[in-house]
Amino acid sequence: MDIGFIGLGNMGAHMARRLVQAGHKVFIYDTRQEAIGDIAALGAIAVRSPKEVADSAETVMVSLPTPDIVLKVATGPDGVIEGKKVKRFVDLSTTGSVMAQRIFKLLADKNIVQIDAPVSGGVRGAEKGTVAVMASGPRADVEAVEPALKVIGKFFYIGEKSGAGQTMKLCNNVLSAAATVATSESMVTGVKAGLDPRIMLDVINASSGRSTATEQKFPEVVLPRTFNQGFTAGLMKKDVDLFLSEAKALGVPVQTCEAVAALLKLTCDELGPDSDITTVIKPIEKRAGVEVRSKSEPSS
Ligand code: NAD
Repeated sequence: MDIGFIGLGNMGAHMARRLVQAGHKVFIYDTRQEAIGDIAALGAIAVRSPKEVADSAETVMVSLPTPDIVLKVATGPDGVIEGKKVKRFVDLSTTGSVMAQRIFKLLADKNIVQIDAPVSGGVRGAEKGTVAVMASGPRADVEAVEPALKVIGKFFYIGEKSGAGQTMKLCNNVLSAAATVATSESMVTGVKAGLDPRIMLDVINASSGRSTATEQKFPEVVLPRTFNQGFTAGLMKKDVDLFLSEAKALGVPVQTCEAVAALLKLTCDELGPDSDITTVIKPIEKRAGVEVRSKSEPSS
């Protein structure tokens, strides 16, 4: 099928590439020229604005950083809303349910159906097509895009209600953030007490404390000190903040997640929002006066 794809970053570049390689005709746009060139070289067709993407295909997918950017690309001047062909707007970004519902209503006035389909599983999951895709929206429209979403990852239909997929995604990501932050505090404590971080991870991964932080983030990018997980602290802060506002609007107490948000804010303040999510350990290390690194890694 013909698909428009806007936002060719860490996640979007892989997802658009997979769609091209699965035989779909993909019309692409990004504000960064270099991102466009890479996917165009594989056979995608580059156009000059979100409107032109939406002039070219009935289904337009986006993978964009923030809710405000999704809103602008979807409904702003020269946005998807002005396109002649578009029937469905599929948001793969983490946007939050409030913004999803706002965009749903604005697009519905132009007979465009908004579908939220946020993904989880990181850059590697996007590369391999193993991310979880959490789709919500009118069933017939979701079914129309389901084959393409199955190229991107493992498809889940969350429900008819606009924003339900976004709520699902936030409930997942806050757990991922909490595990990363809590693992950072645990590992710094162990290392300061004299434990070997490799042995700590081996034990935790054979015990009840294991998570994607201990199984993947810490052994692969924290101990070797590469900090290149591919998801920024700024984007995770956005997700946790969105979760907090949804939970509070529902009257749910969220003390633990507020503490997670505070450490993400500290990381963004001290290291910048573009620093990798795994750098949340650095403000803790700085205050504790130790670093969590493999014994084989030279200290910096
Ligand atoms: P990214 O910043 O790497 O990519 C965003 C892309 O959007 C960039 O190429 C940027 O140039 C482009 N862009 C920004 N403004 C634009 C505009 N106005 N018009 C067109 N293009 C524009 O972000 P990412 O890590 O790929 O994440 C994308 C979304 O997916 C976010 O909502 C994020 O929360 C979510 N997500 C990320 C991961 C991850 O591991 N990186 C995992 C799951 C979900």
